[in-house]
Amino acid sequence: MEVLLALGSNLGNRREILESAWKEIGHLPETKTLRMSRFYETQPVGGSPNQPEFLNAAGVIETTLLPQVLLEKLQEIEIRFGRVRKEHWGPRTLDIDILLYGDQIIATLTLTVPHPEMLRRRFVLEPAAEIAAETVHPVTGKTIREHDRYLDAFEIGEQK
Ligand code: AMP
Repeated sequence: MEVLLALGSNLGNRREILESAWKEIGHLPETKTLRMSRFYETQPVGGSPNQPEFLNAAGVIETTLLPQVLLEKLQEIEIRFGRVRKEHWGPRTLDIDILLYGDQIIATLTLTVPHPEMLRRRFVLEPAAEIAAETVHPVTGKTIREHDRYLDAFEIGEQK
């Protein structure tokens, strides 16, 4: 199954964290990384005003892991990379979301796919459109490119 992921980091060596996380994803069982977007600098949405900027990216993988299993594996990676080792565990620095899992629609307590926020977040749609422009959102029937353009055209959604 082809799966579209969103990755983000706003603390520590963000680029290295995202690159290492991507490598780790490629080492998951039954999983192959296909392509990753470039890195996008984006303003944090919500939270305290002096939060550092985010580095965001999107990636496409091919996997036969079931969605729930994939989620758990990604969460293990988040935990491994997502903390800055100082005196104690620092804040989370890595976020990995499953945006699309093929054309499946999933709604469980722990997993909602397509990711419910993806269509109004420019920092998700922009990198996703770079690597999966023609991929169709299974609920709206529109491509990622169309959704990305729609956000741009109307300047709606959360800004970079
Ligand atoms: P966050 O703090 O944004 O990383 O949210 C993490 C929580 O979102 C986890 O407990 C997941 O179970 C839940 N979740 C629901 N849907 C998704 C999804 N499509 N991708 C990643 N996490 C998800």
